[in-house]
Amino acid sequence: MENMEKQLNKQEETRTAEEIEKDPTTIKFINSLNSLIEKEFEDLDIEKEPKEINSEMVHFLNKDGYKKYFPEEDRAKIVLSPEQSNIYLNLDSFKSIEEVYATITHEFLHLQSFLKKSKDGIRTGYNIVKEKEEHFTALNEFIINKLTKEILKKNEKELKEENIIIEKNFPSIKYDSPILNTIINKIAEKENKEEEEIWEIFKKSLFTGNLMHLRKIEKTFGKNSLKLLSKFYSKEKSRGERQEEHFDVLNYFRFDNPEEKEKILKKYLNY
Ligand SMILES: [Zn+2]
Repeated sequence: MENMEKQLNKQEETRTAEEIEKDPTTIKFINSLNSLIEKEFEDLDIEKEPKEINSEMVHFLNKDGYKKYFPEEDRAKIVLSPEQSNIYLNLDSFKSIEEVYATITHEFLHLQSFLKKSKDGIRTGYNIVKEKEEHFTALNEFIINKLTKEILKKNEKELKEENIIIEKNFPSIKYDSPILNTIINKIAEKENKEEEEIWEIFKKSLFTGNLMHLRKIEKTFGKNSLKLLSKFYSKEKSRGERQEEHFDVLNYFRFDNPEEKEKILKKYLNY
């Protein structure tokens, strides 16, 4: 065990040696994320304090440096540990600094998410990782993406005033999952509520860990809907297969044809 720790420390040192220095604006942006996230917690009435973030936790690497440590990933990786969490970015894979900032925000939201380690596995936000299976991986990413976009959009004016961002929009965060949006929209419709109200419950639970509200998905879309969503993205798949899965899951939530829905459930839940 001790040996393992030493090894990890050594790896950490080498990694630091290969780092690209961060410019003052980036440091300013990372520091300002503290208040942006704090504000979000307040708006959502979350009682706990967000974890403090600092620029030491963000590591910029070039393509080769990054590949050496994370051969499986392509752009960004967050390593979550109780003592110190670190975010590693392959700078060569980004087109603009705004894209880098959006990714840093995204990864820090993973860090702020509800965290629980038990014999049943690790939970961060909605994502549950067990030895042989994973749950709600896609849903978790969809929520974090939507929230990233929202936080940066909400504070765009101030970020511009402080010369932290220059571009009109954050190009990389245009992605807003149509699956998540459809789910929110239809639950709101069924419950006769505003979409915003439903979305708030989804994002708050990311930090509090309360998953009870997910039962609404089953109520709105039918039996096994939650299982379908839970399994979505949980296995390694080829790009083509992934696209097909995405298409099917979107259609499942979008359309009301029971036969079509049953077909999709059978295909992915193997029954
Ligand atoms: Zn993510």
